[in-house]
Amino acid sequence: MPLEYWRPWAIFSITRGIGTPLYLDDHTMKKIGFFFSRVLVDIDLLSLLPNHLLVEHSGFTFIADVEYEWLPPFCSHCKMIVQDLAQCRVFNVQGQVVGPQHQSF
Ligand SMILES: [Zn+2]
Repeated sequence: MPLEYWRPWAIFSITRGIGTPLYLDDHTMKKIGFFFSRVLVDIDLLSLLPNHLLVEHSGFTFIADVEYEWLPPFCSHCKMIVQDLAQCRVFNVQGQVVGPQHQSF
């Protein structure tokens, strides 16, 4: 991958495929190593979160892998962030977790 893609503006541009980028960590800002970059991103938990992004720019194309360092426990049934998925009152019936639609990331 060309070095220009490691510049903050490029990383922010690529990250917009996931959500709104807010912050790059020091390691990424100081361009220490070019294996990965860490970006704080404001995302919509109701949207499908990709594991890869197709990046196309100036005739150069590549796939950027995406890893989520942390995601809040999100109940896809209630559409809410919950403290403990097993304690979702809507999803649980008599203390047992039921239904395949209730999942965390
Ligand atoms: Zn729930």
